[in-house]
Amino acid sequence: MADPRVVVVGAGPAGVRAAQTLAEADLRPVVVDEAPISGGQIYRRQPALFRRSYETLYGFEAARAKALHDSFDRLADQVDYRPETLAWNVFDGALHTMRDGVAGKLPFDALILATGATDRLLPVKGWTLPGCYSLGAAQIALKAQACAIGRRVVFVGTGPLLYLVSYQYAKAGVAVAAVLDTSPAGGQVRALPHLARRPALLAKGLYYRAQLSIRGVPVHSGVTPVEIEGGDGVASVRFRIGDGPQRQIACDAVGMGFHLRSETQLADLAHCAFAFDEALGQWAPQTDRDGRSSVAGVYLAGDGARILGADAAEVSGQLAALAALQDLGRPVAAAQIDGLRRRQQTMEAFRRGLATAFPWPAQLARGVADDVLVCRCEAITAGDLRGAATRKGAPELNRAKALVRVGMGRCQGRFCGAAAAEILAHTRGEALPSVGRLRGQAPVKPLPLAAVREPAS
Ligand SMILES: Cc1cc2nc3c(=O)[nH]c(=O)nc-3n(C[C@H](O)[C@H](O)[C@H](O)COP(=O)(O)OP(=O)(O)OC[C@H]3O[C@@H](n4cnc5c(N)ncnc54)[C@H](O)[C@@H]3O)c2cc1C
Repeated sequence: MADPRVVVVGAGPAGVRAAQTLAEADLRPVVVDEAPISGGQIYRRQPALFRRSYETLYGFEAARAKALHDSFDRLADQVDYRPETLAWNVFDGALHTMRDGVAGKLPFDALILATGATDRLLPVKGWTLPGCYSLGAAQIALKAQACAIGRRVVFVGTGPLLYLVSYQYAKAGVAVAAVLDTSPAGGQVRALPHLARRPALLAKGLYYRAQLSIRGVPVHSGVTPVEIEGGDGVASVRFRIGDGPQRQIACDAVGMGFHLRSETQLADLAHCAFAFDEALGQWAPQTDRDGRSSVAGVYLAGDGARILGADAAEVSGQLAALAALQDLGRPVAAAQIDGLRRRQQTMEAFRRGLATAFPWPAQLARGVADDVLVCRCEAITAGDLRGAATRKGAPELNRAKALVRVGMGRCQGRFCGAAAAEILAHTRGEALPSVGRLRGQAPVKPLPLAAVREPAS
């Protein structure tokens, strides 16, 4: 009998460790990733002719990055690796892909979705000006291309990535004009018991914060961003600290992000059940502790399931692969699963700590002025969205999408969905879960028309 076909989407920490676990069980998984080189976000590799050392590129994570890259490179003969391949739909037991304009169809016996995360954004007046980037984009420019987004940059938002990217820019010699954190400082103190569950990670966070101070970068907590100002490009940021007066700081670029959000569209298209996570204010696919979704044969791992960081992604990748192997009737070691589950529990506690230390500023999304664009792809303002709720009576997000096109465009609501839900729920005077979430639609990213022809297997 032929070996079962296991398909892994994503060659970041979760996908690599899943593939390795499957290869160790003598399977030859297919690994699909839209990126040209494996590594995922945190361990993103530089283009072939770039010559920065692991230490320069990954700092404290250099050894882990090298270990992950080496592991995947060693798997070359044991894995059917398909880079630059977009997975754009899951339908009828098959993953639909696109590479070089050619559509493909991969029927699977098991599917492991390790699709990572993207920035969680909210609209601020002026956020669509040229020179305003997400934190992730700012980091990718630096890590992949050794470019900065500007000469004098303000970083706005909250979460650990805010401090990490600000530090990386300052270390690279860019003038960081200010770090503006929307979280109040008190939350970080309250979160300490949870954060202390992972002392090494906590120490790294404190190190980045201290380095910003040593380099003279002004860091403010409890900030309300008022406006990103400019004309042809960003010129300044206006903000308040607490109830204080408005301040203005000059800059030529802004990096902005408020934590991350899981990339869940493929899980949605596979019909996985979702549940609302109150602590994070986000919908997430439901899984058991090993990554089994509600759909038989579909597993979730890494940031695509829950944002727990890179170490946790490696653990969850292994767990998901072991769950798939178990369900395919292959022998797995119970002790290995137990050990991985224990490691994951510690990481879960840390995640709760981060949510307390750096809460999602829902009040900022709810208070966005009527004339501010929420959905950049379709140019839908907060006022349009409020009109969908009041004049047009949209009871939930998908109805609002049908009525005013919010989330209808290129990004499929990945960047506007969180804020749009807050605005709709607030306008209707309802709790956030009651307006639901934008349903995933194929294709998850734009495709050439050739893709809709009958795909090759
Ligand atoms: C922009 C960004 C920057 C980050 N920087 C840091 C950092 O510096 N330090 C840190 O500790 N953490 C960072 N994080 C978080 C950290 O990257 C993650 O915790 C970790 O990488 C998660 O690993 P993963 O394997 O789950 O996902 P990822 O590493 O994100 O890998 C997911 C992979 O899936 C692929 N993929 C997704 N969707 C598809 C699709 N439809 N078709 C084909 N391929 C697909 C992607 O190309 C990617 O290679 C960052 C996260 C983001 C989003």
